[in-house]
Order: sequence, then structure tokens, then C-alpha cells
Amino acid sequence: MSSQPVVPPVVVVGAGPVGATAALLLARRGLPVLLLDRRAHPPGLPRAVHLDDEALRALADAGVAEEFLAVSRPMAGLRLLDARHRTLAEFRRTEGAGRHGWPQASMFHQPDLERLLRTALDREGVEVRSGEEVVALAEGDGSVTVTVAERDTGRRRDVVASAVLGCDGANSTVRGLLGARMRDLGRPDRWLVVDLRARVPLPVWPGVHQVCDPVRAATFMPVSGDRYRFEARLRPGEDAADLTGPALAGLLAPFGAQDAEVVRAAEYVHRAQVVDRWRRGRVLLAGDAAHLTPPFVGQGLGLGLRDVHQLAWKVAAVVTGAAGEELFDTHGAERGPHARALVRLAALVGRLMTGGGAGAVPVRRAVLAAVAGVPALAAYATDSRTPPLRPGPLVDRSGRAGRRLAGTLVPRARVRAGGDECRIDDVLGAGTAVVALAGPGRVAVTAGGRRTEVDDVDGALTCWLTGARARFAVVRPDRVVRAAG
Ligand SMILES: Cc1cc2nc3c(=O)[nH]c(=O)nc-3n(C[C@H](O)[C@H](O)[C@H](O)COP(=O)(O)OP(=O)(O)OC[C@H]3O[C@@H](n4cnc5c(N)ncnc54)[C@H](O)[C@@H]3O)c2cc1C
Repeated sequence: MSSQPVVPPVVVVGAGPVGATAALLLARRGLPVLLLDRRAHPPGLPRAVHLDDEALRALADAGVAEEFLAVSRPMAGLRLLDARHRTLAEFRRTEGAGRHGWPQASMFHQPDLERLLRTALDREGVEVRSGEEVVALAEGDGSVTVTVAERDTGRRRDVVASAVLGCDGANSTVRGLLGARMRDLGRPDRWLVVDLRARVPLPVWPGVHQVCDPVRAATFMPVSGDRYRFEARLRPGEDAADLTGPALAGLLAPFGAQDAEVVRAAEYVHRAQVVDRWRRGRVLLAGDAAHLTPPFVGQGLGLGLRDVHQLAWKVAAVVTGAAGEELFDTHGAERGPHARALVRLAALVGRLMTGGGAGAVPVRRAVLAAVAGVPALAAYATDSRTPPLRPGPLVDRSGRAGRRLAGTLVPRARVRAGGDECRIDDVLGAGTAVVALAGPGRVAVTAGGRRTEVDDVDGALTCWLTGARARFAVVRPDRVVRAAG
């Protein structure tokens, strides 16, 4: 009798939103997963409040998109205000403008997301161990020995892993153990972050208000339910304790929030950093362990979710022996430039909106008026698309169609298959697939050796392909286009 080879678990270090999503993506690919966190309980404090529809593709493949939508709220857009809170420009999101069938931007309370991820981990039967800290890693041939210390007792034990994902946040232990370092892409920026609840809904527009005042840059936004977020840049020498009581009430008054309950007020240092090395052997980094971004384009968590969405299928391929370990080289090669582009964009947007001295104010006013007046530029300001992945072994951007589509996400279009309406992701399945034109209003999907013709309900896929002069696109398991022609 021959027995099946037993694959050791993939150890995911850190049960924050990125690690939890990674564990779900791996478990849904049939891999044994061990999720470790040194904390006994989730912190319960909100940080991220915004997620775009591209990052939602990762939550969808993790099986939690519908639950996420149930606890989040569409975000209406961005309103830029001057120091006296007069509107400089407004960029509204049109409902239904997104290409993935969801709002282009959603507002949410991070503990709600973490709670539903925990429930999904239970549902998928993922082994989660809290209060266990990873303290050492030793690489073997095709495996990694992970040394774990129990926080309560200090007792240590070793776990053999087929791969290790370091999703252990900004002060990552795994990053240090694999010899990687953060590289600065900008200066640190100190902000006061205030979470509020209001018994009576505040009379504010349901979008992000950005106060473009170099003297006191600030942001105010409704989150979800009765929750609101206010953030203000701290001045040199000032700390969070200086902005309490009447000082804080004065900053909140323009939004009608002076009487709202302050749930917490804390100082955060926002950094612009990306790691210089994403992998050693079978140990890989993702999430805040690999990058930290200023908050201006709301991409910290979004970047992390993209990291693990684009990594999970590669981990599955390597640990099951379907691909060699060199596939892991593509992780940093793809994620590094993408993360650096978004971190630099966030730093630039921050400077444009809140930087400069008094002299920058009239320039900003003139430029914003011009941008808001040109619909194409205004649409760009609210577009949720992130930069395409750079060319590489898994992104072939040759040819006109390849240049337009490879490295971007296939739209999550509505299709009708055998009379039932669904989304293209349901037809693409978990592997690589080919989407091709198949006559008027019809698209053929070849996945797992099987060809299925579907109706392109809104014409979105036909339009997407023909707009790039493509007849077909090869789509990777993470919904990224590998090649088109
Ligand atoms: C004020 C603020 C506002 C933000 N707003 C947004 C936003 O609107 N949109 C957005 O996309 N992002 C935003 N972000 C960023 C976002 O919150 C983070 O990018 C995201 O939470 C990081 O998730 P993570 O899972 O990578 O890390 P974390 O949530 O930090 O999780 C890491 C986990 O690893 C565990 N751990 C650490 N070391 C070990 C070890 N040695 N062994 C075992 N476990 C370990 C920790 O206990 C922790 O639970 C914001 C951040 C801040 C601070």
C-alpha cells in the first residue's frame, strides 16, 4: 500500500488581517496551515478604515467578501478643504463605476473585519494558536524549522513548516530573522488619530474630508454605523496630550463632531518604507512586515491583501511540488515595485494636499480647480486601479494587448453560464485560465482543461478585451492577467 506524502503545514506568523487572510487563502487551496500570534487576543483597536475594490478580490477568494460588505459602507469620494474649511475641490465616486461589481471604496471598522476573518478561520478548520511567539527559524532542505515560545510559560517547541509567511506587522520578527531591512522612501510623519462615535448621525457628507492646511493638516470621515475617524498632523514639539478637551473639540467643531464620544485618541507615526528583501528560501514576507505607507491613499492594508493574494497560489504550487522554489523569486520581484509605487504615490499625494508653506496655498487652489474641472482628471482622482505589475516571468507585457492588460486585474464581470448568472471569478476557478472572445456577447473560458462559453451580461469583458485590441487574456489564479494577445 502506498501512502500519500504528508505536507508539513505552512506556518503563517501573525494573525492580523493580512496573516488571517493568507491562512484562509492557503486553507482554501487545501493546504494544512498553522496560524500563530503572540497576542492572546486581537488588539480590538481600529487602524485601517478604507479598502478598495481590487483588494476585495483577495477577501472574495478568502470567502469573506459578502460578510465584509455587510459591515462596510460605500465611500462617496474625496472633498478637499482649505484652512477655513471652504471646499477647494470635490471628487465624487459614481455608484456602479467600479469594474469589480463592488463599490470602488468601502469604509469599515477594522475590528469588524478581524472578527469575521476569525469566524472564517474556524469555519475552514485552520489551526490558530494565540499567545505563541516565533523566536527563531532554521532552514532545512525543502522545509523550515520554526521555534515558537509560549508567552505565558516561556516554554519553547519546534514546528516543521513547508513554508513560512511573515505577516507579523511593522515590528516583524521574521523580517529580522531573514536578514531583511526596511528602506525609507520618505520622512516619518506624526499624526493624532481619533476614533469617535455619535449617538445622532453627524450632518456630514459620506466621503473623506481632507483639510489641505499646511499648518494643521487634518482628515475627517464617516466610517461605518455610528463611527467616525478624525486625524490631524501633529506640529513639531506637540503630542497627542496637547490635543485633548477644548483643543480637540475646536478641531472637531467644523464637522459638527465636537460632542461625539472619543473612543480613543492616540499618536501614530506614519512611515514610508519598503523592505529590501522579501524572501529567503521558503520564508516570505507580506503586509506591514514588508511595507509601511503614509495614509493618504488608504493602501496599507490593501497592499498587504494584494501581497498574500498574489503569494498564496505560489506557495501552494511550491509546497505541493508542482513548481520549484525559484517561483518564490517572483514574490519580491512583483510586490516590491508595486509597493514602492503606491508608497511613493501616498507620500506625493500627502505633500500635494498638505505640504508647502503659505505660498503653496494659492497654487494648490488653482491646480485643484483645474483638475476638478476636467472630468477625465477628476475620474482619475477617484479611480481605484493600482499600477500594473512589472514585466517578469509571470507577467508578459509584450505586444500592444500585453502592454495594456498584462499585470492588471481581469474585471469581475457578470456572466451567465448555463442559465445561471454569476461573476467571471466563479468560472475562472482556482487555477490559470484563458478568457477569449467567442462571438457577439459571448466569451469562452478555458480552465482546468475545460472550455465553457458564457454570456458576457454587461459586455464588460468584450469591451475590456477589444478596448485593448486583444482576443484573449491568460489569467493567473490571483486574477492578474499574465499575457494577452
Ligand atoms: C491610523 C492608521 C490608519 C490606517 N488606515 C488605513 C486605511 O484606511 N486603509 C488601509 O489599507 N490601511 C490603513 N492603515 C494600515 C493598516 O492598518 C495596516 O497596514 C494593517 O493593519 C496591517 O496588517 P498586518 O496584518 O500586516 O499587520 P498587523 O495587524 O500589525 O498584525 C501583525 C500581527 O503579528 C503578530 N506578531 C508580531 N510578531 C510576532 C511574532 N514574533 N510571533 C507571532 N506573532 C507575531 C502581532 O501580534 C499582530 O497580531 C492604517 C494604519 C494606521 C496606523
